Amino acid sequence: MEPLVGKIIYMIGYWAANFVIRAPYIKAHQRLAIRANRKTRADTGLFLAVGIGGFFLPLLYVFTPVLSFANYSSPLWVGLTGVVVLLLGNWVFWRSHRDLGANWSPTLEIRQKHTLVTHGIYRRIRHPMYLSIWLLVIAQAMILPNYIAGFSGVVPFALLYFLRVPKEERMMREEFGKAYDEYLLVTGRILPKF
Ligand code: SAH
Repeated sequence: MEPLVGKIIYMIGYWAANFVIRAPYIKAHQRLAIRANRKTRADTGLFLAVGIGGFFLPLLYVFTPVLSFANYSSPLWVGLTGVVVLLLGNWVFWRSHRDLGANWSPTLEIRQKHTLVTHGIYRRIRHPMYLSIWLLVIAQAMILPNYIAGFSGVVPFALLYFLRVPKEERMMREEFGKAYDEYLLVTGRILPKF
């Protein structure tokens, strides 16, 4: 795939996920009262790193020649598969935001009126939103043929995922007790359990 086509597709995909799908939830999140907050400094740092890797470095790659020394050529099928993964990632991102609704938060928080969501895409997967971000960062690596701007999404997100998920599950268990234990039995972390 032509690098320019990849650049345009990645920018549209990123814009759709973060500025169209997520934006309304950020506004709602700012209005809702928080009962417990487990955010640490490390979380803030990782959150920032994910933003730099997913947005700032690709932006540099798309609009300036600064990262061109790290370009490589990649076969067309890799780019095309990346587009399919990007579309799937955006769909799962949208579905999980819709099903999680007012319980969504960018870091680990419990809302004043938090409910345990076990329906929709959460029925068989506990972390569909993280699944969608995995798909989006993998798509980034496949669509942008640049060693820095392509892989800068996967690395910080992998760190964030593996550090955050055990803490998030501990927080949810403390909050919802037996109901969460039962939910754990019928769901997979990012792959559906049947
Ligand atoms: N890990 C989930 C949600 C990410 S948003 C996913 O990948 O889809 C992070 C917030 O969602 C956490 O602070 C937690 O309060 C909330 N959360 C996670 N799972 C939830 C569930 N099943 N029901 C309600 N809230 C949930």
